[in-house]
Amino acid sequence: MMAFCGNPLDRASDRRTDPAWLAAQQGCGLFLPFWQNKPLVVKDRAGFLPWRREWQAGLCVFLGLDGARPLFAVDVAGDSEPVMEDGAFAEMRASAFVLPGRDTAIAGQAKALIDWHRRHGFCPNCGAGTELCDGGYRRLCPACAAEHFPRTDPVVIMLPVLGDECLVGRNARFVNGLYSAFAGFVEPGEGLEDAVRRELQEEAGVRIGAITYHASQPWPFPSSLMLGCYAQALSRDFAIDGHEITDARWLTKDEVRKRLAQEIQDEMTMPAPIAIAHHLVRDWAKN
Ligand SMILES: [Zn+2]
Repeated sequence: MMAFCGNPLDRASDRRTDPAWLAAQQGCGLFLPFWQNKPLVVKDRAGFLPWRREWQAGLCVFLGLDGARPLFAVDVAGDSEPVMEDGAFAEMRASAFVLPGRDTAIAGQAKALIDWHRRHGFCPNCGAGTELCDGGYRRLCPACAAEHFPRTDPVVIMLPVLGDECLVGRNARFVNGLYSAFAGFVEPGEGLEDAVRRELQEEAGVRIGAITYHASQPWPFPSSLMLGCYAQALSRDFAIDGHEITDARWLTKDEVRKRLAQEIQDEMTMPAPIAIAHHLVRDWAKN
């Protein structure tokens, strides 16, 4: 299972619109505190705790039902990190390496929601302050009655392939030595395939034939949905843009397998298993 996928919660979307039902759930729920977009991690698990009075002023969102247990996340304010008895607030990305898969998925959902609310307190239509509704799945503007819904931004991430080879690129923002799949936001008016073609043309100068969808991954940085695809290259020619992409290389399946197994020791690294890019490359090289 990919990181952030496989969220097991029942989001109770038909019931969370009822304030009385939500209030009852809060009375018996568990809460995952966030501080500056970092979840509480306790003994390598998501740190769900019973309600505390000091969280009263914090933004609180409903995550869903874990069996019969309602789960929430709460944003803990403050400039200095609150001291927790046996855990600590950890960066979401780092947490994904240590938490069990279900905890990563739930914490990712919570992070995306809280992060969105922190940045959307005012109505984009009229500028008035908005109110959180439906446990956090809607904001309502009391001045102009506009409704605003937490965003998920589609991002295409694709691996150009040709015969026994795939093309990986080095993004200028990547840590040293990392080569990965190509990626970019889907723009208004684009289908998934349009975005794949445009991004590969812009970043890598690769001409593309058929495009196949492979898998998707929620990616809460801040709130993307990664759409993983394979793009059939029409030739081995490429022309990197030199700004966003600073290098690109064709790799054979055999080389990919060796690199993922860390049998080749050089400056080049492959994407980490928490990223869908890792799965795109690995799944393609498997056969
Ligand atoms: Zn408004």
